[in-house]
Amino acid sequence: MRRTVFTEEHEDFRSMIRAFIESEVVPVYDKWFEDGIAPRDFYYKLGELGIFGIEIPTEYGGAGLDSYKFQAIITEECARAGVSFGGSSVHVGLCLPYLKALATEEQKQRWYPGMLSGETMFAIAMTEPGTGSDLAGIRTTAKPSGDGTHYVLNGSKTFITGGVHADRVIVCARTAPPREDDRRFGITLLVVDTKSAGYQVGRKLDKLGLRVSDTAELNFTDVVVPVEDVLGEVNMGFSYLGQNLPRERLGIAVGAYAQAKAAVRFAAQYTRDRTVFGKPVASFQNTKFELAACQADVDAMEAVVDRAMEAHDLDELTPADAASAKLFCTDVASRVIDRCLQLHGGYGYINEYPIARLYADNRVSRIYGGTSEVMKMIIAKNMGL
Ligand SMILES: Cc1cc2nc3c(=O)[nH]c(=O)nc-3n(C[C@H](O)[C@H](O)[C@H](O)COP(=O)(O)OP(=O)(O)OC[C@H]3O[C@@H](n4cnc5c(N)ncnc54)[C@H](O)[C@@H]3O)c2cc1C
Repeated sequence: MRRTVFTEEHEDFRSMIRAFIESEVVPVYDKWFEDGIAPRDFYYKLGELGIFGIEIPTEYGGAGLDSYKFQAIITEECARAGVSFGGSSVHVGLCLPYLKALATEEQKQRWYPGMLSGETMFAIAMTEPGTGSDLAGIRTTAKPSGDGTHYVLNGSKTFITGGVHADRVIVCARTAPPREDDRRFGITLLVVDTKSAGYQVGRKLDKLGLRVSDTAELNFTDVVVPVEDVLGEVNMGFSYLGQNLPRERLGIAVGAYAQAKAAVRFAAQYTRDRTVFGKPVASFQNTKFELAACQADVDAMEAVVDRAMEAHDLDELTPADAASAKLFCTDVASRVIDRCLQLHGGYGYINEYPIARLYADNRVSRIYGGTSEVMKMIIAKNMGL
């Protein structure tokens, strides 16, 4: 079926991104994979290309396109080529919406130029060693100074995407104890300068997949955060997370769909080229049936993500809608990718083949951005259960 969510402008953008990936990322990707990180300089290239400014308003030098679809195209094209842009996926994908919704005029003037050029890379730190799904249980604290000029941040975070390269991190911290009737009260978002004294990047975590994305532990010891770097209202951080997590979950659903689509493409190509018992693997009825079933799953996911993207751009994507799209796409994609890997035989298990990397990369999609179990809780709650 012809997709109706993208216009000619989007398709031009897609061609540009596809060519950029082919020339700038594919030739060096094996090196990034070995290093376990994309080089910092690459982010300046993305900045120069205008990738980071797509959704930043024109008065701050961006393109002012108020749409998630361009991010979706980047996600789709990276998956198609079997590569990623490393930890920079969270920079505008996740962090920009928080700034757009909550930053003051002064903060926008201060942060947008660096965000646009890639000079100031952003990450977001919610998860802690002791708590992930239950965000109201965070223990990182930010205590107001007596003179009201700053907060003093103490605690630690883990699994932070882009944490090694980040220049500013949106940190969720407790600024007041929870209320008896509202555990979510008392959390504040602080945009912490990673060069501050007492801010320390811990281990870069060694992951099963997403090897090119730098995922780090962060530690804070008496970090001074000026009040000018508080994002939004003090103690209201939890509600801001609730408003922004649907977009994060949509992004993960789109990523899973794109990975599954790429897996079918890789498997169709591989089975045409591979000869077994004197015949191409693609000629066996089992291969055709497997790929046909996978294609039908991809078509179903496409319908879900396209509808969710439209809803997002109309500001109508509810937390339950996003949870449903993420739950469905990540679950179906994992099965599709597994079946496509099977069709590769032993080569499917070798990292040199993109299907092996896709398999490992996709696994986390049912965990991060909220686990599948948490998605079910959100959907069930919305059903009145
Ligand atoms: C590669 C990667 C990148 C990430 N990037 C970021 C990032 O940039 N920023 C950030 O803040 N976080 C990030 N995360 C963290 C991620 O969002 C959390 O790992 C996720 O939310 C799950 O939290 P947890 O790991 O603490 O699991 P837990 O909360 O400990 O869950 C353990 C298990 O218990 C289940 N469970 C929990 N509660 C319930 C319940 N009520 N009922 C039934 N089952 C339940 C879960 O579904 C899961 O199966 C990242 C994680 C990974 C792996």
